[in-house]
Amino acid sequence: MSKIDREAIVNSVPQKGFFGHPKGLFTLFFTEFWERFSYYGMRALLLYYMYSEVVNGGLGMDEGTAKSIMAVYGSLVYMSGIIGGWIADRLLGTQRSIFYGGILIMAGHIVLALPAGVTALFISMFLIIIGTGLLKPNVSSIVGDMYHREDNRRDAGFSIFYMGINMGAFIAPFIVGTLGQKYNYHLGFGMAAIGMLIGLIVFVVTKKKNLALAGTQVPNPLKPEEKSRVIKRIVVGLLIIIGLGFITIPTNILTINRFTILISLLGIIIPTAYFIVMYRSEKTTNVEKSRLLAYIPLFVTSVLFWAIYEQGAIILAEYADKRTQLEIFGIQLHSSWFQSLSPLFVITLAPVFAALWIKLGERQPSTTRKFSFGLFFAGLSFIIMIVPAFMYGTEALVHPIWLTLSFLLAVIGELCLSPVGLSATTKLAPQAFSAQTMSLWFLSNAAAQALNAQLVKLYTPETEIFYFGLIGGTAVALSFLLFAIAPKIQKYMIGVK
Ligand code: GLN
Repeated sequence: MSKIDREAIVNSVPQKGFFGHPKGLFTLFFTEFWERFSYYGMRALLLYYMYSEVVNGGLGMDEGTAKSIMAVYGSLVYMSGIIGGWIADRLLGTQRSIFYGGILIMAGHIVLALPAGVTALFISMFLIIIGTGLLKPNVSSIVGDMYHREDNRRDAGFSIFYMGINMGAFIAPFIVGTLGQKYNYHLGFGMAAIGMLIGLIVFVVTKKKNLALAGTQVPNPLKPEEKSRVIKRIVVGLLIIIGLGFITIPTNILTINRFTILISLLGIIIPTAYFIVMYRSEKTTNVEKSRLLAYIPLFVTSVLFWAIYEQGAIILAEYADKRTQLEIFGIQLHSSWFQSLSPLFVITLAPVFAALWIKLGERQPSTTRKFSFGLFFAGLSFIIMIVPAFMYGTEALVHPIWLTLSFLLAVIGELCLSPVGLSATTKLAPQAFSAQTMSLWFLSNAAAQALNAQLVKLYTPETEIFYFGLIGGTAVALSFLLFAIAPKIQKYMIGVK
């Protein structure tokens, strides 16, 4: 997009109206609030729904399979950001992509709200994967479009937006989770659909006035002659995939297990290919190549971090359900409620971290060191889970304080790594690939969950000490290594702190 276009777009957005920020932030904040409400509400329930006995309203799946499916699903939800970024960039623009994404997500939750078994589960997952790919990276990227390049409200704008994400994630388990666990799973999923509907209404009703031109342009549109070729290829590709599915699924060539392995491989292959293409491109300058090399250890750290973090919705969710006392001071807790702890800690601690970085100013740790802290705390969040197993054995039910502490440690790590990571990605990615940076960052989460699809199968209460100890210990050891080599990595970043 040319500079004039950019200026014109920013100028079209009412620059005040939401906590001193552009009015459009209101629209994006609440759209993403409700989208995350539906996503995290559903996630709080889905694992329990898959492995609960059929008589209890679940699908009665094997637990290992259910956990792998959760990880594969989480991975694909973030991997599809590549498709969503491409569609916005070349076909629809971000506003329209968000709209269609929201419709698909809502449809996905509606399908899950119907008591229609495993088929409905997979159809719903497909819709939510594509829908989130269209909505999530694009809604974040419009946030950036509303500010002038030198506007110093930009970082604060992103922090407010991150609050919206976490507020939606915080309330969802109490509403969607409670409805699902207390009454009926499908009622819970229905509530997630209503959440997405509210988000869509906010978006549609307020976008014209608040977002104006932001997100309406197609930055790099396909030429008419390219269009028919590309659409043809997409249709052929889809037909091949569907055809392969029809042949390989009934004949048991493609089992859930093999599909899981396939996604795990893709989780590694896609980012590797991305790096190779960017590194070898003629459009990448030498300085950018050096920065790209520095980005690799950060990306790997981020993968390890999110691998542990995202297990909060799988392994720790199972721990909440099976290993934790759910009656405390006479109050009956629901296992899904534990999913609210991370967002709650983010909401309360994010301002503390923001203030800390401002206070430290020039003396604050480098990006690489912050990443090493992130991984360190994620490692600790697993290591701490060994303690209750040692103290009470792996059969007994333990106090909820252990899970609470674990989530707290992981969030301390998140606040060292996640906001820093997004900003580092935008600074380290080569100019020619800047449109895809948002999806590049989300790919680290996709790779992490692809790894988890294999890891989570190894967890059972019997292997618990070994599992938490080995993964947590490895993370801590690698965080020390990263801390030690940080100055070297920083040198490769050339000009980026
Ligand atoms: N929890 C945040 C969200 O849902 C961050 C996830 C991520 O960056 N991978 O948006």
